[in-house]
Amino acid sequence: MTQQPFVVLDNVAKRWNGQLGVEHVSLEIEEGSFVALLGPSGCGKSTTLRLLAGLETADEGRILIDGRDVTTSAASDRNLSMVFQSYALFPHLSVAENVVFGLKVRRVPRAERREKLNRALTITGLIGYENRKPGELSGGQRQRVALARAIVAGQRLCLMDEPLSNLDAKLRTSVRKDIKKLQQELGITVVYVTHDQTEAMSMADKIVLMQEGHIQQVGTPGDLYNKPINTFVAEFVGAPPMALIRSEALDGFGQGHRIGLRAENVSLASEGQTRMTCRVSESEFLGAETLIGLEHEQATGLTIIRPGLSPMTVGQEVGITFGDADLHVFDAAGNRLAS
Ligand code: ADP
Ligand code: MG
Repeated sequence: MTQQPFVVLDNVAKRWNGQLGVEHVSLEIEEGSFVALLGPSGCGKSTTLRLLAGLETADEGRILIDGRDVTTSAASDRNLSMVFQSYALFPHLSVAENVVFGLKVRRVPRAERREKLNRALTITGLIGYENRKPGELSGGQRQRVALARAIVAGQRLCLMDEPLSNLDAKLRTSVRKDIKKLQQELGITVVYVTHDQTEAMSMADKIVLMQEGHIQQVGTPGDLYNKPINTFVAEFVGAPPMALIRSEALDGFGQGHRIGLRAENVSLASEGQTRMTCRVSESEFLGAETLIGLEHEQATGLTIIRPGLSPMTVGQEVGITFGDADLHVFDAAGNRLAS
């Protein structure tokens, strides 16, 4: 017998007075996995999450959680917890009171509340902060309180909508690791909304990349990076984004195709090895490496990675080379051709 996926969205659609939220959203999520809903602002990530949570009702399609059809179930009947970008903490309650609020509402006995609280505060590194009010915490600590509250809820499914967006870059990286560790330790299933491809790539077992209300590609971070199904995915995943070259600029790639090429596969050509001649447009020093942006009439996003601090003069002409095996071929409509 094959195991049922833990969460199923089957051809789900949501519109408001004809305005598209999402359409044809079909997705299966394994229990215990970390799934990222990724895409630019307005592509339907939150709508998908809210449909799953029961905060919105689908116009079409079905939603199943743990084998149960919850398409029309109330949010409170779906056995899940949520973490939002805004934290949604009660400002007048202490950290401890915020964390156990839901347990109190559900009349969980005091001793059990205390035990769950302690565990959640330990896991989130908040021991010692029990009596502080949210206003006396940093953004990162507030987000930890929101996480602790989701943990004490003890649900097997946790939905997170851009939970790190309000944190500064450094904190984002550390809380990102905390969340991932937590998900693995607790063995819970997380559906995580983000517009940040780095976050999705570093955290998710599976990425669902969306655009304009539709799923473009579902796969592991490696799948999306190595085999982008179309030029949208190619340019959205990876930093720097994949360069796209018109096939006319290269020999042997026919007419009207677009050829994708990642920066790590481009090198400066030695005498007589030049495949394209470009002009240096910018140098971006990142510490361990310098990204050299290149301009070419028939290409966008061409970049070379050079080690350490090695800028090049803007306007300088350079010859580049690359191997055919590293090229991604897309048709005129932007869809990946075989391989
Ligand atoms: P994301 O979270 O990916 O930024 P959303 O899921 O919030 O995007 O929104 C997807 C689309 O649905 C957007 O065009 C948005 O304007 C629209 N939308 C979302 N919620 C509503 C609503 N309550 N009423 C009307 N349109 C909405
Ligand atoms: Mg959103």
